[in-house]
Amino acid sequence: MKHIGQLKKWPLIILLAVLFGVGAATTSVMANTQYMTVKADTVNVRLGPGLAYGIMGQVKSGNQLTIIGAKNSWYQVRLAGNRIGWVASWLVDQSEAATTRAKVATVNQPVNVREYASQDAKQLGSLNAGVSVKVVYQEGNWTQIAYNNTAAWITSSSIQLTGKTTNLAQPAQANLTQTQSNPSLKVTTNTTTNLRNAAGINAPVVEKLDKGTELTVIKQQDDWYQVTAPDGKTGFVASWTVSAPNDGQTKKAATKLSEATIVLDPGHGGSDTGAIANDGSDYEKTYTLKTADLVANALRAAGANVIMTRTTDKFVDLAPRPATANNAHADAFISFHFDSSPSKNSASGFTTYYYSSKKDLPLAKSINRALTGLPLKNRGVAFGNFEVLRDNNQPAILNEMGYINNDKDFKYIKDPTYQSKIATDIVNGLNAYFKAGNHQ
Ligand SMILES: [Zn+2]
Repeated sequence: MKHIGQLKKWPLIILLAVLFGVGAATTSVMANTQYMTVKADTVNVRLGPGLAYGIMGQVKSGNQLTIIGAKNSWYQVRLAGNRIGWVASWLVDQSEAATTRAKVATVNQPVNVREYASQDAKQLGSLNAGVSVKVVYQEGNWTQIAYNNTAAWITSSSIQLTGKTTNLAQPAQANLTQTQSNPSLKVTTNTTTNLRNAAGINAPVVEKLDKGTELTVIKQQDDWYQVTAPDGKTGFVASWTVSAPNDGQTKKAATKLSEATIVLDPGHGGSDTGAIANDGSDYEKTYTLKTADLVANALRAAGANVIMTRTTDKFVDLAPRPATANNAHADAFISFHFDSSPSKNSASGFTTYYYSSKKDLPLAKSINRALTGLPLKNRGVAFGNFEVLRDNNQPAILNEMGYINNDKDFKYIKDPTYQSKIATDIVNGLNAYFKAGNHQ
């Protein structure tokens, strides 16, 4: 681990194209499926219900989105690939034609009903052969059905589609139909800012706005708001110069894993190999990524939104890693490393590091406590002055999951069974962390 912090300070690299894998649905999926059609040219899909959240992708005019939740003036939507994100309600139109229709299927063999699309997910009940179900969504081996006023998952092979469709129950609340009223979002300038006549920092200035000026949002265009100022003038302000009144609420931390955004940080990468195994040809960077990939899969199966600081063998400097967590308002940042001792085979075991005893320690304890039954010694929780923790505003920990220059440890480090066990334990640790209510 001593290589951490020794890297040159490169200019901050902006992490583009944060890739999201297939994420399983969250529990907040409503049986009353509603659809929206994108009406703005391009709409940003964000990580949370507010302009302060990072952008996870974009959808184009005419695209249809499945709405699975609503908060303030934002809709939680399901995108292609079963990804979950948020769009501003004033940028989409409700499509009545497609609302609340479900496919009818018959169960052809007894099947367990699960909370998420995973055999490891909590079992909510079971269905017998011959029972009719309403299919909300299908992807590969998993089918989402309406179940006890919520949505749940069963294996696709256990049902037969009848070819018929039916209505799902009408939504209990009519708040999703209020889009025509175009809820007026107000934002407040958090600094002296320019009102410009187009979205862009080079656009001519209409007027200067004092700090604390309340503006009415007409629409959002990328990272710009088109607004009306108190004097009636309209123009554009950069989203980073204003704060939305709901920001305080919407940044509220997740209370369960399925609502959470978790940033995983596979240590090193590319030209930065990290520590080297005793064979001289195996690098730490390889196993941090393999382990983090398995953790990402397990977290996504549990419904979490996972962001990786790297997904390939490429160099990523230290500074952008905590920045990724900060920008995403992540609920947790988990870094993976493998230790190295000054002389071969002289140390063994894994350690969970934290920097802030207030912000990070509860997470470190929950995760470390969940790392059970591993073949290596648990060296416990320890303070670690690492940049990826120090510069992190979000709860952050760094796991050194064994000594790569110990032959016994390395035998496990490169074993997918060991890596998978870590993944399972991290999910359990995060569940315990959210359940304990330490997270705020
Ligand atoms: Zn390392």
